[in-house]
Amino acid sequence: MRRSLIDLDDLSAHEIEYLFERTTAFERKAPSRLLDGVACVNMFFEQSTRTYTSFNLAELRLGAQVVNLAPKDLSLATKGETVEDTVITLAAMGVQVLVVRHPEAGFPKRLAMAFDGHVVNAGDGAHAHPTQALLDIFTLREEFNELRGLTVAIVGDVLHSRVAHSTMLGLIGLGVDVVLVGPECFLPTGHAIAGARIERDLDAVLEHAHALILLRIQRERFETMPLTDAEYVASYRLDHARLSRLRPQTIVMHPGPYNRGMELDDSVLEFAGWRYARQVMHGVYVRMAVLDFLVNGQR
Ligand code: ASP
Repeated sequence: MRRSLIDLDDLSAHEIEYLFERTTAFERKAPSRLLDGVACVNMFFEQSTRTYTSFNLAELRLGAQVVNLAPKDLSLATKGETVEDTVITLAAMGVQVLVVRHPEAGFPKRLAMAFDGHVVNAGDGAHAHPTQALLDIFTLREEFNELRGLTVAIVGDVLHSRVAHSTMLGLIGLGVDVVLVGPECFLPTGHAIAGARIERDLDAVLEHAHALILLRIQRERFETMPLTDAEYVASYRLDHARLSRLRPQTIVMHPGPYNRGMELDDSVLEFAGWRYARQVMHGVYVRMAVLDFLVNGQR
């Protein structure tokens, strides 16, 4: 089986370090066509703006041949073709890389088991989003250099967030004190907490956190909102008053899309420590590093 990236634990600490070195190098100087002629197919079964554009740009900047398939183009979605048969077809055309987003947790893994090529998980259900985790960790590294000993609060609908899952996996492995903050209905339990701390009260963490990662409420993943919007906003929205309680160097991140008025208000978008645009910018280069690593190996 060829190398795929389904979740962050597919990478060793050393490999993550290597990917970050490559990301930094690519940001300083655009690389040559490291994927010259490599056929990449992006299969997005779920809506995406950032991740879709970011993977496309990463592939194009590396010189790959890029094909984008929307759900309506995919015969496995409508014509009853199995995943296994779809990937046999794509491999026969010389496709080497599949980037896949799917609402079902585990779908990219199934593809990877059947495909004679590399699969990159661009988000599967509430399970994982490893390239988002890499760009989040890269952004934190840029800011703080050494992550060990930092406190990072992941705030909001942690339970339904694949970003929270993958990012906390990476951060805990790097010695970060991760605090999951939200109402009980949005917090994981049992082994899913994976070494993080749980805190219901956002106001209790504001003065201690080095970084806040805000999350969107993933309404597409549950039937009824377990609390009212007003209740959520009162306890968890980051606003001017809460921003003023942060330490001077604290940064605020968000994987996007963010919902103004819910998890944040407009004052966050003007806050000096708001790092959303840095995250998005790093995302393209991190994905270039991942694609080059999977196809060409470590240089
Ligand atoms: N863009 C992220 C994801 O695909 C986060 C979100 O949708 O809220 O998981």
